[in-house]
Amino acid sequence: MKALALYSGGLDSILAIKIVEEQNVEVIPVHFYTGFAGKIEERFIEEAEREYGIKGVKIVDIREDFLKILKEPKFGYGKNLNPCIDCKILFFRKTKQLMEKYGASFVITGEVLGQRPMTQNKNTLFLIEKESSLKGLILRPLSAKLLPPTIPEEKGWVERNKLYSISGRGRKEQMKLAKKFVLKSIPTPAGGCLLTDPNFSKRLKILMEKLKEYSWEEIELVKLGRMFEINNCILLIARDEKEKKVFINSSSPVFDEKNVTVGCIIGNPEGKEKEIAGIILRYSKIKGKVFIKNKWINADPLPPEIVHSKLVGAKL
Ligand code: SF4
Repeated sequence: MKALALYSGGLDSILAIKIVEEQNVEVIPVHFYTGFAGKIEERFIEEAEREYGIKGVKIVDIREDFLKILKEPKFGYGKNLNPCIDCKILFFRKTKQLMEKYGASFVITGEVLGQRPMTQNKNTLFLIEKESSLKGLILRPLSAKLLPPTIPEEKGWVERNKLYSISGRGRKEQMKLAKKFVLKSIPTPAGGCLLTDPNFSKRLKILMEKLKEYSWEEIELVKLGRMFEINNCILLIARDEKEKKVFINSSSPVFDEKNVTVGCIIGNPEGKEKEIAGIILRYSKIKGKVFIKNKWINADPLPPEIVHSKLVGAKL
């Protein structure tokens, strides 16, 4: 018997795999990279094996599909720009497609009833199952005894009495299980989705408003730099050499007089070039001219209070 597991790298997903493996089921861990959450680096796979004994993690890059749901989520956003319900449905739809490839009969997740208000209440769990056409085939080993029996339990592929009845946000039961399965280390709580960050969501929302059509290229840019909102465009100013290197490859970098890339522009700066140059010069050690969209602009640094009034998300 084979099962696919949604593996986030967090403790709950590790335990869910261990519980089912103990019942002689071969588990294939799948990890989704959305561009805002998840890992894409090879060392993530190595770490899973070394630290938690989770072998053969398959990383699946779903950025393009994720972007579609981000632009128009059927079930809306959470507190910030996180389309959690649509995101989970996408994860399960993708997993369903992979089931045939790997010869798996059901799916496992580390979801815990009541742990996350938006996606881990009973109604939403059932809605997600229905929308992803996996009704009865998603086993949640940590909370299974609090939920109706699934097909794998009914058919005897796994024994229900060896599953758990954990609920809520506490970690006590999970820590006991981590001990039972002798994990070398405990991962820090899973999460880290950039879309749940209010500051980043604010930046992304501005990008969405300014550009009707945007792609991963622009999204990757608004993850970086100091961001300023100026009419129809966004100005990003690099905070270090690494950011400068990214901005130099963007479609609209801005340079100072020494030909050093200091930032980049997204959108149309027409008519606002002087203002943009004034902001750049406030942060630049070199005073004078700035190269913006094919022309040199002479300007004086703008007063700090004006610069700060255009700044988005002061902490970034
Ligand atoms: S927090 Fe991010 S990764 Fe997690 S379900 Fe929501 S949108 Fe998806």
